[in-house]
Amino acid sequence: MTRDRMLLTSGRLISGAGYRESLRRYTPKVYVDGELIASVADAPTLQPGINALAVSYDFALDSDKTPLMTAVQTSSGATVNRMLHINESAGDLLNKLEAVRILCQETGCAQRYLAHDALNAIHQVSARIDDARGSSEHRARFAAYLEEVQASDWSLGIAMTDAKGDRSKRPHQQANPDTYVHIVERNPRGIVISGTKAIVTGAPYMHEFLVMPSRNMGPADADFAVCCALPVDAPGLTIIARPAGRPGEKLEHGAALFSRRYGQSTAVLVFDRVFVPWERVFFAGEW
Ligand SMILES: Cc1cc2nc3c(=O)[nH]c(=O)nc-3n(C[C@H](O)[C@H](O)[C@H](O)COP(=O)(O)OP(=O)(O)OC[C@H]3O[C@@H](n4cnc5c(N)ncnc54)[C@H](O)[C@@H]3O)c2cc1C
Repeated sequence: MTRDRMLLTSGRLISGAGYRESLRRYTPKVYVDGELIASVADAPTLQPGINALAVSYDFALDSDKTPLMTAVQTSSGATVNRMLHINESAGDLLNKLEAVRILCQETGCAQRYLAHDALNAIHQVSARIDDARGSSEHRARFAAYLEEVQASDWSLGIAMTDAKGDRSKRPHQQANPDTYVHIVERNPRGIVISGTKAIVTGAPYMHEFLVMPSRNMGPADADFAVCCALPVDAPGLTIIARPAGRPGEKLEHGAALFSRRYGQSTAVLVFDRVFVPWERVFFAGEW
């Protein structure tokens, strides 16, 4: 049973309140404006972002919106949040766009839509790698993770944009290899990754991150071609975040303004020898 399963309120869907509570089960190392955040769920600077994510949970349980905000994953027969669904038809693509539009109308930014894009991309790439190799290993590993994500109704942050360093150089040519997230060690239990991802939407108040490569890679960049999942409080991970408002916006009584109710934090993620077990590694070295 995962950390959030106790909070299920309707099948696989948790409520906005359940989502807020679920954040207390994680202890991420988050800095906002240089200050270490003791509790993400209680931090005034992050509340507008948490409020916005909560809407994505409550809308899925609102009977008027359920047909749009949820979808049935036919492989499991389960009803899941639209933002965690693997597309099965052209209608799914249109429904996802409409769901994002409705969430943005209320909150300014749906934030969880990135999870949908990332999950669908990893699903496709896993199948392509397997097809090229005549195996089923990548599909199976991703399917097991997807089942956990959908059953837990997690919010997933997408750590894709690398810090990049010198833009004219490829990852393996960088003077500082930590400008891109890369594999620094492989062992029988998993991989160890280091490096920096930038501008990760909603990072402090997510449950997990999907780490993905941000550009095409060549053979010499194989260690930088890594895609995996990890919890927000993975040891060695530091989240350096903006308040959940607009960049540069002044705080009022310690809280970000934006719409006063809703906002979006973005963060830099610094990975310092973060361990990821093989069951959470979707590809590693498949440039
Ligand atoms: C509000 C917001 C939220 C975001 N959320 C996320 C998120 O959740 N997860 C995530 O992974 N990313 C996120 N991003 C990052 C976003 O996807 C990146 O900003 C985008 O991919 C561009 O990367 P960059 O900023 O490094 O720009 P660059 O790659 O530096 O590009 C800047 C410009 O320079 C050009 N350029 C770059 N290199 C060269 C070169 N060598 N030669 C010629 N031209 C070049 C580019 O074409 C572009 O026009 C977010 C960004 C914003 C603004």
